[in-house]
Amino acid sequence: MTGDQTDAISAATIGGLPATGRPADEMLDALRIERGGDLDWRGGRAFSLVYNTDDPELERLQHEVASMFLHENALNPFRYETLLRMEGEILSMAKGLFGAGHAALSSGGTESIFLAVQTARDHARANGVASPTLLCAETAHPAFAKACHYLDVERIALPTRDDGRADPDAFAAAIDDRTAVLVASAPCYPFGVIDPVTEIAALAAGRGLLCHVDACLGGYLLPFWAALGQDVAPWDFRVDGVTSMSADIHKYGYSYKGVSTVMYRDRDLYQHQIFMYDSWPGGLYASSSSAGTRPGSPIAGAWATMTHLGSEGYLRLGRRVLDATTGFLEGVRSIDGLRVTSDPDMSVFEFGADPDTGRSVDIDAVADLMDDRGWNLDRQQGGLHVMSSPGHDRVVDAFVTDLADAAASHGTARGGEHVYGGVVES
Ligand SMILES: *Cc1c(COP(=O)(O)O)cnc(C)c1O
Repeated sequence: MTGDQTDAISAATIGGLPATGRPADEMLDALRIERGGDLDWRGGRAFSLVYNTDDPELERLQHEVASMFLHENALNPFRYETLLRMEGEILSMAKGLFGAGHAALSSGGTESIFLAVQTARDHARANGVASPTLLCAETAHPAFAKACHYLDVERIALPTRDDGRADPDAFAAAIDDRTAVLVASAPCYPFGVIDPVTEIAALAAGRGLLCHVDACLGGYLLPFWAALGQDVAPWDFRVDGVTSMSADIHKYGYSYKGVSTVMYRDRDLYQHQIFMYDSWPGGLYASSSSAGTRPGSPIAGAWATMTHLGSEGYLRLGRRVLDATTGFLEGVRSIDGLRVTSDPDMSVFEFGADPDTGRSVDIDAVADLMDDRGWNLDRQQGGLHVMSSPGHDRVVDAFVTDLADAAASHGTARGGEHVYGGVVES
């Protein structure tokens, strides 16, 4: 091909792509500027979506391993022996932490929950239940609603007790011939309270049903929370009747996005998740999660993070989360007109206006004022959401001061939205 012909090809715009490519350095410079307007989680003023460890050495390690394994594909783990070894080590650490019999990696909490709902559905179908149902508290994560929607399982959401925890009596009353699985959260996202896992699992076991514990949020923090002397009611496979569990390494496991664990007590149940197809001209196709091509970076990041931190590192970060949470809780409770919703069991909670004091606080106006000062608190239906990370221990005093100011001023709300996720399309 002559130079003239190449020029003719590169000058044409095909599809929506730019007609000519942009040089890498120019793009990186532009991106650095553009990102300057994005949420600055390192400053400690973000409360969800990123779990800030405030640990530069860990961050450097994560950046290095992410780029080291950027192009590897874990679809066929036998082609990349290093990823296979890392995955095996992550899974054995997970099994040890939670007392699981079998474990698999997934891309996130939602995929772990999809897989657990699918195994529960297929287990029920194998036992003659044509249209299985799932019982959960209304505080259970929307991933259950989504999984049930995709997988044709009916989800029955039950009211909680006054303390915000799932109500075992409501579960007992709702169980019928179609029930496949009972779900408990450890803890639930909105209020940070742990459902009564022992009672719910016992109900399930007594009727030969499954019990899934959603520890996406708490899984990789609660063992250390307990070791730090906090009161944590039993919630994992050490509770009789718990048959499956989800726990996200990309939350309090502190790795970067794209990695979670889904676990089972028994091989028979886990078997429903494994997919094998041997009639393809391309060869035998087998997988243990819903992904085909699997990026190597999240596996390498999870392994590097867990191995670098070890128990000592998780305890150190857990201590910082505990200190930050204690500071936030004490601060909110000290402010006239505000109250903490329920009595959180972990590092996540909601606070809102306290109807029992003389002062009436407009919590949406408080949220606006906090936004103006750069604090990014998510707005829930009943108040504002706090999720503490290790790096928050540096900002507790500033937060409490700003919150007290905001609660004391009588602003009117601009009407911000209660949004957690979003749809992007064009
Ligand atoms: C985050 C979360 C999930 C979903 O996990 P993703 O990684 O966001 O898909 C499920 N349950 C709870 C309690 C969570 O906090």
